[in-house]
Amino acid sequence: MAWALKVEEKLGKNVFKVDKEGHIKINREVCRSKCQPKYCLHVCPAKVYSLDKQGDILPNPDGCLECGACVIACLEEALSWHYPKAGYGVQYRFS
Ligand code: SF4
Repeated sequence: MAWALKVEEKLGKNVFKVDKEGHIKINREVCRSKCQPKYCLHVCPAKVYSLDKQGDILPNPDGCLECGACVIACLEEALSWHYPKAGYGVQYRFS
């Protein structure tokens, strides 16, 4: 039964249609020079953001849940985010 599933199990059933253009862009220069806390690494429930070997933010928008938390958390406005094109993005299986 769906109600007996854990949140992680429910999220794992979501389906994503990936838009190759991507819907998240990052101004790396702003990230490097102005952002110390890098809140996007911590607020994203889908773990879309990680650090590359140089310590720069590396987004992998394929699993984005479209919650918008990262844009709110980015105090330096280094993120450019919009909803994926119609027909792309997350399709929730459990509202
Ligand atoms: Fe993560 Fe939400 Fe931002 Fe998508 S919109 S990258 S799920 S914080």
